[in-house]
Amino acid sequence: MKVNCPTCKTQIEWSEAYEFRPFCCKRCQLIDLGQWADEAHAIPSDKHQHDLLPDNIDVEEVEAMLAKAAKNADDFFQS
Ligand SMILES: [Zn+2]
Repeated sequence: MKVNCPTCKTQIEWSEAYEFRPFCCKRCQLIDLGQWADEAHAIPSDKHQHDLLPDNIDVEEVEAMLAKAAKNADDFFQS
């Protein structure tokens, strides 16, 4: 049985000889895992931002709060 490496499309034999199957090598496995992790990370963080900003929120009010928080942080680091 032959399979194509999902990362670089190199054809390999599905056997004990290929430790990282279906990937051809460890590098391809890590690349694929990295891409998966990026996507998995992006989806919940995007949803989280929507949860933080409901449709009925006052944008100017939020910006004022953020400006105030930033000023407080500046004061904290300067003192
Ligand atoms: Zn590969």
